[in-house]
Amino acid sequence: MPLDDGTIEIAGLSLPLVDVANVMDDLRAVYAEFDQRTDAFKADERNPHLCAAGCSHCCKQGAVFAVTLAEAMLWARAVHALPKATLESAKCAAKDLLREQHRIFATIEGPVDQPGARKEPLFSARISAFNAALGPTCPLLVEDLCSVYQARPMLCRAYGFPVDAYAVKAEGAMVFRSLCVLYENERLVDYVRAEDVKARLTDLSKRLTGGLDPGRFTSVEVVLAEFV
Ligand code: SF4
Ligand code: SF4
Repeated sequence: MPLDDGTIEIAGLSLPLVDVANVMDDLRAVYAEFDQRTDAFKADERNPHLCAAGCSHCCKQGAVFAVTLAEAMLWARAVHALPKATLESAKCAAKDLLREQHRIFATIEGPVDQPGARKEPLFSARISAFNAALGPTCPLLVEDLCSVYQARPMLCRAYGFPVDAYAVKAEGAMVFRSLCVLYENERLVDYVRAEDVKARLTDLSKRLTGGLDPGRFTSVEVVLAEFV
């Protein structure tokens, strides 16, 4: 597996990459900054925080989601570094899910799904339909623990926190899509600010491709990505 530059094959695309080492360093810095914000949130005892190792409902109920190319790159590298048996099992599960993804995406009205040129909100709607139909478990969950925890993408880091970047704003209130059902009766007095993060992830992805925006990929496609 190349440590710098090279090509990632993902979702039927073959994307030559540049400046990989620097972009990965900058991505780790974005993650570290976000983790600092969630640590500060947890440190305030007025804020509810229920997540703990082994609590994996969120990785089991509809755990297919969208990631940027920069996140996909770091994450796919961690997948490739898994022990052989774990890697084979994850890829096998992901292949099954990919067949379902293609089938379910095709049932949602709109232009044919086209990785590299996906448009919102159609892409999100297709992912929601996939999760609603199958409620799939993430192929990277092993014995109720994340097998690529250090490299997990932003949404996995955000899940379990009320994060403004993953909120729907309606009638002056925010509904946090980054909170699982276990938070249903919890009282919120604050939230994690991360509106800047999404734009930074997109910028990092553009740097990887030399300026093009490759759009987002599904988590299933990332598990099946290859490096050449
Ligand atoms: S988000 Fe919910 S299910 Fe996931 S670890 Fe946190 S409390 Fe558990
Ligand atoms: S990558 Fe890890 S944290 Fe994210 S859904 Fe999969 S198992 Fe859960």
